[in-house]
Amino acid sequence: MSTTAQAGQTAELTDRFLEFYRKYYADAIGELAQRYPREQRSLYIEADDVYRFDPVLLDDWLDRPDQVRQYAEEALRLFDLPADIALDDAHVRLTDTEDAIGARPIPELNPSDDVGDYVAVRGQLNKVTGTKPRLTEATFECKRCGTKAYIPQGRNNTQEPHECQGCERQGPFALVVDDSEFVDQRKVQLAELPDERPGTEGEKIPVYVEDDLCDYGGEHGLPDRAGETAVVLGKLRVNESKLTGRNGTPETETWIEAQAIAFESNDYDDVDVDAHREAFEELAAQEDCVEQLRDSIAPQILADDELEVALEAAVAWLFNAYRIDNDRGAFRGDLHFGLIGDPGRGKSTILSRLAKIAPKAEYRSGTGLSKVGLTAAAVQEEFAGNTDWTLEPGILPRANGGHCIIDEVDDVVDEKTKAMHDASRATRW
Ligand SMILES: [Zn+2]
Repeated sequence: MSTTAQAGQTAELTDRFLEFYRKYYADAIGELAQRYPREQRSLYIEADDVYRFDPVLLDDWLDRPDQVRQYAEEALRLFDLPADIALDDAHVRLTDTEDAIGARPIPELNPSDDVGDYVAVRGQLNKVTGTKPRLTEATFECKRCGTKAYIPQGRNNTQEPHECQGCERQGPFALVVDDSEFVDQRKVQLAELPDERPGTEGEKIPVYVEDDLCDYGGEHGLPDRAGETAVVLGKLRVNESKLTGRNGTPETETWIEAQAIAFESNDYDDVDVDAHREAFEELAAQEDCVEQLRDSIAPQILADDELEVALEAAVAWLFNAYRIDNDRGAFRGDLHFGLIGDPGRGKSTILSRLAKIAPKAEYRSGTGLSKVGLTAAAVQEEFAGNTDWTLEPGILPRANGGHCIIDEVDDVVDEKTKAMHDASRATRW
């Protein structure tokens, strides 16, 4: 493409965005202008609005997210605003509340097709690191003549100037930290949702989050939301540094450069009770209601009298009881039950069936409980190429608002069992 054609396309796309903003986002931009930069630094655009304005523009955005976002941000700077306000470093972030892009679980990402595209991926925010600065533009000073050079930086090895513009020699150069530009960055691990991977760890993908997105979602930013379900939107990228250079290999990993995060609560509040109310009331009116529920948990198991009692306890556990708050104190309605028995009697089958039936269940084997265990831990570990402190939610916070099921509980050591007891006082699980 020639430079003229590129310039023409730039003007055209920027104009399209200005038109789009005037039609759909004038109020939102006015609000951003009032809050910029301290309280708000991003304009959130709904993919569905872009689609209604021009489906081709949305396709273009999904195909080459970096370029199209730059036009969108350029248009934001050109938008008519009171003279004293400039949105110079404001971001435009494409989000997808209406599911116009279509969020996918991690295993449905198709790296060979999707690399470079804007994707929407649903999962659980599994690990969140602290905020660290990342160098975005490095200022170098020639040690021979003092001439300065400003070099934009990618995520891989720091780029130095090739040659000094002043003395035309190849340095040496010194990094001037005070004159360089940094951005806040967090790393997040997105994991498959518990109900999509009963009994296993599931697939994971690293996500990089920058600037105001680090503080998104809570008073302390993203760490407040560890363990929650979210749709991460951004560009699917490969680890370029592994592909090139002396030790380069053709194999690499994918990661997401996040542009937006949308949280989805998957608490019981989301379950549409009214849709099933009639069926439940009908069932409740029948005399053998408990027996019917009991026999439908795991019909493939031949239950003797003892196992029938266990299954009835499981029914009670699925429904829980009312929470009571009165002048005598608060009484939790949560029920817990333990199942003890000889091997081969179907305990594990019952537990995995319960994990499927409960709207939100975290199911893990005691042997497989990671060092994070039941509650949560700040762990220092290698994650996405660096050793970082990350906050990793254990099985209980991950099941928050839902049910927690632990098979082979005797493999959980004493220390962790104590944590389970403490946590049961603090949270409903
Ligand atoms: Zn020089």
